Amino acid sequence: MTGLVIVGHGTRSAAGVDQFAALVERVRRRADIGDVEGGFIELSRPPLTDAVGALVARGQRALVALPLVLTAAGHGKGDIPAAMFREQQRHPGLSYRYGRPLGPHPLLHDALEQRIDAALVGVDHADAPDRAATWIALIGRGSTDPDANAEVAKVARLLWEGRGYAGVEPGFISLAQPSVPAVLERLRRLGARRIVVAPYFLFAGVLPDRIVARSAEFAAAHPELDVRVADLIGDCDALADLVLERYAEALGGDIRMNCDTCAYRVLMPGFADKVGRPQRPHDHPDDPVGHHHHHAHDHGSVALVGGGPGPDDLITVRGKALLDAADVVMVDRLAPQGLLSGLRPDVLVVDAAKVPRGPSMAQEAINAALVSHARAGRRVVRLKGGDPYVFGRGHEEVQACVAAGVPVTVVPGVSSAFAAPALAGVPVTHRGVAHDVTVASGHLPPGHPDSLVDWAALARTRGTVVLLMAVDTIAKIATVLIEHGRAPETPVLAVQDAGQPDQRSVPARLDEIGALAAREGIRPPAVFVVGPVAALTTTGPTV
Ligand code: SAH
Repeated sequence: MTGLVIVGHGTRSAAGVDQFAALVERVRRRADIGDVEGGFIELSRPPLTDAVGALVARGQRALVALPLVLTAAGHGKGDIPAAMFREQQRHPGLSYRYGRPLGPHPLLHDALEQRIDAALVGVDHADAPDRAATWIALIGRGSTDPDANAEVAKVARLLWEGRGYAGVEPGFISLAQPSVPAVLERLRRLGARRIVVAPYFLFAGVLPDRIVARSAEFAAAHPELDVRVADLIGDCDALADLVLERYAEALGGDIRMNCDTCAYRVLMPGFADKVGRPQRPHDHPDDPVGHHHHHAHDHGSVALVGGGPGPDDLITVRGKALLDAADVVMVDRLAPQGLLSGLRPDVLVVDAAKVPRGPSMAQEAINAALVSHARAGRRVVRLKGGDPYVFGRGHEEVQACVAAGVPVTVVPGVSSAFAAPALAGVPVTHRGVAHDVTVASGHLPPGHPDSLVDWAALARTRGTVVLLMAVDTIAKIATVLIEHGRAPETPVLAVQDAGQPDQRSVPARLDEIGALAAREGIRPPAVFVVGPVAALTTTGPTV
């Protein structure tokens, strides 16, 4: 049987830990499921690493990891996957399928209904309470993730549908509005005389206790109202059923996560900082890795963003969102400068081309600046031209961040290697003309002792060669390509300042491009497209 690890966040409440353990035991007792463990990512024992370790020790190599959360917010979307990633590094070869959060599910609505009924036992001097006279405040945890809050609103609606309550209103105990007193006041103004506060929580904890306290305060201030608090969902068969359903769903590969309105994927108004944000594991007190953790750089991060070839609107949506949320932007000369004018006035813009010290030290100075800004808690965007990993030294910066323990993410960009030809109307491949395209740096001339390019091999290819950083070396490169077999009449197109208003293209044959580029005054930034596709340039209606 594929092992199941049930992952909880952890709580300061001993009762909450006991309820979690009881549920794990309840799931384990089911005959049809094999190996079940439960663990927490912080605060409570056992830590996740022990739970995974136990399963691995029993020979499990492919697990289902089920986040025991009602809604997909930071814990479910980020913290638990980050913790599982750490476990995978500890256990090479370990794979897992990630289950979806528990809610909204009819089993939960039924459980809530039962808890509400239990809170109403004895009212109305009849067998059943008068639901039409009963208002429900459904109180969720609350999150900075709008999608998670929307899930609570959905559950409130579903709980109301067909059950005959006067009304069900969502509220939140932390981080989101309306608060418990705000939603209770809303119900009071709607004319409610009897309100059941139903916590949308699995187990005991600090926040459910707070719901009880806030409700009691409101009730004390409004003695004319009957305010009751229902029990939590708690360890029960319905919850175990739901865990097993999610387990089966994960095994079947049919995990219907709600990604359409996920703030980590989609730019939602006011939540630009979440898009593409790197996720880091929490530190469990019983997990040795936590002891090496420094909290000084909490919340600081670095994103290497590919800005595209130059125009403001050839950056990716994700890159733009991160840029909009940045505190510091370190920008390269070839990055789209127009994007800088749209930054908030308080954003620190650092021109990486002007970083002091000699050229050989510049990269180290940039790395150090990225790390120190992030450690100071700032969101740093390293804005680069094109793609960060295409002759962009991006990986050196990533390595520096990783070595310093700074969270770093890379956002790919539209590389000039393909964009400059495309903007000049040249397809780098075309059916029946070129089945390969090679991107090479001309920074070092052929024959240079440090050059890693096999120019002779490139000369033997039939397809397209795109040369970057080759303005000074194009004559030598063309000569060497011809020497090793490329036809002298091979078409070449030089494309300068692609995407800019002064973009221009110069066509030539391979044996004349060196002289022509010099005569025409081709200046960086420019790419050279070498190969038969260079003759296909169009000046159709879309150019
Ligand atoms: N990371 C970048 C490349 C950096 S190397 C990318 O993916 O695009 C710098 C070289 O890129 C320049 O020498 C030039 O060859 C090319 N380049 C960048 N922007 C360009 C542009 N707008 N037009 C033509 N070439 C460009």
